[in-house]
Amino acid sequence: MCGIVAYIGKKEAYPIVIKGLERLEYRGYDSAGVALLKESKINLFKEKGKVQDLKNKAANEDVSGTSGMGHTRWATHGEPNMVNAHPHLSGNGKIALIHNGIIENYAALKTTLESRGHVFQSDTDTEVLVHLIEEIQSKNNLDLAEAVRISLGEVTGAYAIVVMSTDEPDILVGARKGSPMVVGIGKDEFFMASDATPIIEYTKNVVYLEDEEIAVINRKGKLSIKTISNEDVAPAIQELKMEIEALEKGGYDHYMLKEIFEQPRSIYDSMRGRIDSTKGDIHMGGLEEYRNTLMNAKRIIVVACGTSWHAALVAEYLFEDLARIPTEVEYASEFRYRNPVIYEDDVVVAISQSGETADTLAAIELAKQKGATVLGVCNVVGSSIPRATHAGAYTHAGPEIGVASTKAFTAQVTVLIQMALWIAYNRGAINQAKLTRYLVELEAIPAKVEKTLKCAEYAKELAKMIASSDNALYLGRGYNFPIALEGALKLKEISYIHAEGYPAAEMKHGPIALIDENMPVIVLATKNSQYEKTVSNIQEVKARKGKIFAIVTKGDTEVKEMADYYIQVPDCPEELSPLISSIPLQLISYEVALLRECNVDQPRNLAKSVTVE
Ligand code: GLU
Repeated sequence: MCGIVAYIGKKEAYPIVIKGLERLEYRGYDSAGVALLKESKINLFKEKGKVQDLKNKAANEDVSGTSGMGHTRWATHGEPNMVNAHPHLSGNGKIALIHNGIIENYAALKTTLESRGHVFQSDTDTEVLVHLIEEIQSKNNLDLAEAVRISLGEVTGAYAIVVMSTDEPDILVGARKGSPMVVGIGKDEFFMASDATPIIEYTKNVVYLEDEEIAVINRKGKLSIKTISNEDVAPAIQELKMEIEALEKGGYDHYMLKEIFEQPRSIYDSMRGRIDSTKGDIHMGGLEEYRNTLMNAKRIIVVACGTSWHAALVAEYLFEDLARIPTEVEYASEFRYRNPVIYEDDVVVAISQSGETADTLAAIELAKQKGATVLGVCNVVGSSIPRATHAGAYTHAGPEIGVASTKAFTAQVTVLIQMALWIAYNRGAINQAKLTRYLVELEAIPAKVEKTLKCAEYAKELAKMIASSDNALYLGRGYNFPIALEGALKLKEISYIHAEGYPAAEMKHGPIALIDENMPVIVLATKNSQYEKTVSNIQEVKARKGKIFAIVTKGDTEVKEMADYYIQVPDCPEELSPLISSIPLQLISYEVALLRECNVDQPRNLAKSVTVE
């Protein structure tokens, strides 16, 4: 959450920082601000709302300066207004700071600082840190980097920060703990950002800061890194693989729509080089080193948050069904604080698009402490979770900018299917013939997703029947149950219609009380082992006049007769069906949100990459 970008070099900083903020806006967008250093003076521009509002505000101002930083906020402490927007200044106005994360002991620090005469302007936790740096610097007569280092030793919580000072105009200081930070190395210029997207058009050389590291970037071309405990660190420079086109809308109205339509490709990319049906081969290079552990695992625990948690539920079905390993699914935020029982022969699988999800990271640390083997399934290469886990498999969905996850979800499911097949085959739970059949079917999925996307026009029609509802119910059984949850989440995230997903049979234990002629009920009724049972559940809804929107397998006749509206999708084995049946639900949510005039890519109160717990 929250986007940070900073530049120091020979070019004008403002256009680079603003463009960077636009790229990072998916991370938070309740307010934005920039600080520019010019002739020993910090010029500050802040505004409530989007980066565009900030641009409007700064339109006729002097925004020159070759050192600058910007922030797009997702408020944790203090309402989203102009005063609380970052950057925040020290009392003497000489130091400016941007921050992503939460300073947990801010209240105690604030009281102490106030007693020493510091006066605060905002309600944020962040402002306390810049005053603390000022206090420590002036009291001990330190340079900026050292004052930052000592100050960070006094704070608890999570942070990625960038700090500038009028006393040292040729440097910027950045640091991280728990929140991401990338340093970009150009020719006579440096960048810092929450992820690589603002940097990619200027340089491919980056250094991912580790927790408790402080980086000083110097206009004269020097990068130095040390730890908070004052040990020097040699920068590990990596080359970015990302392409700039992946960050543009490519002719679509919204990133979300572009990402929905990218799924044939992203699913294909997530299995490319891993499977070959003609040879009956499956390779999971990242897992090979832990082959024995996986073969002997007594239990798998899958931890995740949000949409990734729905992918985790699909994984539960897959790991039990195919690999015959008992599997539990946990919300990372509950798991980490619940004192869970974890054994050394447990395998923990952590799923996160961004690879930065704070709760999931903490769950990983806990599992590691207890001796479990931890595997990651992440999309962002070089992010914190792949670095914190023992091994894992990347999804290859490419950058996902829309806040409501679509292609990252199906890419996660694609990887989890392959993990399940790999484990199942190697443990002898499925034989070669069965593996080959699944591989053939898996390779056919991208084309089937392409076909499913043809329902986009009809989804517009269905959306008209749902858009004026206050509530919606999503039902499914078996592999369709997590997809019902995901469908409901997608609708509420971007259209603000209250929606619930339920196992179809559970409906009669409560939600059925809500059903009347105004309630749209979206039922995943594709052909699977529980098809007949689902049909009975549809009858129960119909008997109470609920409006049925069914997702059915092509060729279905029974449910088509019963449903008020239906979308047909291609047939496939039920273990792979989440990859298909989630597509129409994404399209329906998108169209409903448009009809309700909601901001599809930046839904209210939400942000991507949840780096606060
Ligand atoms: N805790 C800080 C605030 O509320 C930073 C939030 C963020 O990461 O955007 O201002």
